Amino acid sequence: MATIAWVGLGHMGAPMTARLVAAGHEVRGHDLDAEAVRVAVAGGVVAPGSLAAALDGADVLITMLQRGSQVRAVLAEALPLLPPGTLVIDSSTIAIDDARELHRTVAEAGLPFLDAPVSGGVPGATAGTLTFMVGGAAADLERARPVLEPMAGRIFHIGPGGSGQAAKIVNNLMLGITLAATCEGAVLADRLGLDHRVFQQMASVSSGDSWALRTWYPMPGVLETAAVNRDFDGGFVVDLMAKDLGLALAAGAATGTGLPFTAEVAAGLQRLRDAGLGGKDSSVFVKLVDGSLD
Ligand code: NAD
Repeated sequence: MATIAWVGLGHMGAPMTARLVAAGHEVRGHDLDAEAVRVAVAGGVVAPGSLAAALDGADVLITMLQRGSQVRAVLAEALPLLPPGTLVIDSSTIAIDDARELHRTVAEAGLPFLDAPVSGGVPGATAGTLTFMVGGAAADLERARPVLEPMAGRIFHIGPGGSGQAAKIVNNLMLGITLAATCEGAVLADRLGLDHRVFQQMASVSSGDSWALRTWYPMPGVLETAAVNRDFDGGFVVDLMAKDLGLALAAGAATGTGLPFTAEVAAGLQRLRDAGLGGKDSSVFVKLVDGSLD
């Protein structure tokens, strides 16, 4: 069993570390937010109170932060303190260029590094069924497997450094567009007088199917997993979806790829943020369609 230093105990980090603890690993957590630390400690994480103390004796360091700038700042502080051979893994969703830069920085410090973002959200983190998309050396992934497996449904070695983030950003581009399509369809089906539950069940086994339709269908009382039943609290918030589509648009610009549908959804997400809904689940997108924000 490994000693794992974990930085970032938020919506994802807390349930992911609980899976590692349940699998018998020792997890030493660190977060700037006292409430996040409290929740993680309830899940069995040890919180020694500082980044340096969390790193002490670690075999593996995992970061699960919001943005590339945060990962860069944490690793700048952590790298000089890590024992030789410590495996460094970043599971945050960050820009492809940031991930490539981190590969260079960590390699210069003489340590192995993987970019390993995830899909599956808080439910997948809680159930230990996340999809990991891993960029970096195959040998480093083999070393990481015993640590990733308790949190994972599937682990994909995508390719060289940065390719895990590239796969994640393209995946979330598709999620954003299918979510918008699901919200439009759900409102139109409602206005056409269709029964919400019957329509959702039919579409989920027909060509309108998508993960958003099966998990986030934005009409009340249809799916237990849908945030519409909880005033759009929790889940995958608008701010994070907007961040991911911004990363996709940047990748599109860098590769000369026009992404008109992504741009349209990103503009809608910005309207939601301007309306003060950035902290709500992304399926609040339905409010752009039903006119309740006009
Ligand atoms: P979150 O905001 O809930 O958690 C991030 C945590 O990092 C916070 O608790 C914050 O206090 C902490 N933090 C920030 N800077 C820090 C620092 N310098 N040192 C220590 N702690 C610091 O975010 P989340 O929802 O857990 O998402 C984390 C990452 O996972 C993001 O990159 C997100 O895009 C990605 N992701 C999220 C989901 C989801 O459904 N929430 C799904 C897949 C991927």
